[in-house]
Amino acid sequence: MASGNLDYYELLEVSRDADADTIKKAFRRKARECHPDVSDAPDAEDRFKEINEAYDVLSDPQKRRQYDTYGSVDGAAGGYGYSDFGDMFGGAGFDLGDLFSAFFGGTRASGRTVNLEGRDMAMNISVSLQEAATGVEREIRYDRLAPCDDCHATGSADGSAPAACPDCGGTGQRTTYRQTILGTMQSSVPCETCGGTGTYIKNPCPECDGSGRVIDRETFTLEIPAGISDGQTIRRREAGEAGIRGAKSGDLLFTIHVSADDRFQREGNNLHARLPLSIAEAALGTTKEVEGILETLQVEVPAGSQQGDRIRVKDSGMPVVGRPGARGDTLYHVDVIVPKKMSPAVYELVKQLSAELGDSPTSNADELASRGGIGDRIRGFKRGVEDFKDWVTGN
Ligand SMILES: [Zn+2]
Ligand SMILES: [Zn+2]
Repeated sequence: MASGNLDYYELLEVSRDADADTIKKAFRRKARECHPDVSDAPDAEDRFKEINEAYDVLSDPQKRRQYDTYGSVDGAAGGYGYSDFGDMFGGAGFDLGDLFSAFFGGTRASGRTVNLEGRDMAMNISVSLQEAATGVEREIRYDRLAPCDDCHATGSADGSAPAACPDCGGTGQRTTYRQTILGTMQSSVPCETCGGTGTYIKNPCPECDGSGRVIDRETFTLEIPAGISDGQTIRRREAGEAGIRGAKSGDLLFTIHVSADDRFQREGNNLHARLPLSIAEAALGTTKEVEGILETLQVEVPAGSQQGDRIRVKDSGMPVVGRPGARGDTLYHVDVIVPKKMSPAVYELVKQLSAELGDSPTSNADELASRGGIGDRIRGFKRGVEDFKDWVTGN
């Protein structure tokens, strides 16, 4: 989409030394002229994309410098542009067409009421489990209909108050009558003159055409708190679409997606992980050093650990949102690894072990029984293994 040989200044019809405000206003004007919903020109969509690309470069001081020096910008409009809107606002059923039809004075009329308030906007943000554990910042950049500064969102160029619409007498509705075989049918439609608002502006602000809102590119840093869960939302009040002529703005909602991790499985604030042990480590007990989600941990493995046993390391799991210092636990699932390849020396030792233990591991079972309820132990073992299997297969 980056076309390299476009003259961005020419596209926006601004001089090469135009300041940021001039560029912004030129973009708004051009975007209104060329938007595919308004323009009949067959190349309107391409023109609109070019204007977005020009604004993307010229509104960013670093990209603009690069463009002025080299005549092109790597990845201009690459990560951001017209085509991204569908994805960005898809979750809320918001698309660029909506953005612009609203901009051009369209209002949402359902039945007899016209809603002047701005709509909520939505964005999806993906973070890794590691980022969810540490907390992370994301640079957010988006376009929205923002309150117009030039007229303080009143829509009026001279500050005069809106007057009642002469065509609908201020009701915002026009009643139509139709003759049918059942008699006269009466129906109400939003008034076209005032867009259903019931008021009109005598001397509209040229920047916003009297709507009190203009398209604006917003940037800010979103702080995602440590411990955030998959599917949780973060709301920024009134950062969504501005209302018409100063009516309340919608909110901006971020839905956080925490991606799966190949080392840890999350369960609330607790984490589950495998703990591979040799048969000797499991039999004799040991202290294993492992990488936890945020720090190195010492896992105390008791002698006689069995496959599927869980060893809990307290306060090493996910941080708890809103409770500084509080954390869940990590549960390590013992996974005894039987050697497939053995040196002659190890082979001899295992043979000796076998002779010493006898042909069946009944002595071991007796010992388990003496530790309290063999049935419980077996059930516990099965549960441990099954959980682990679910985790590996991603269920
Ligand atoms: Zn204005
Ligand atoms: Zn009207």
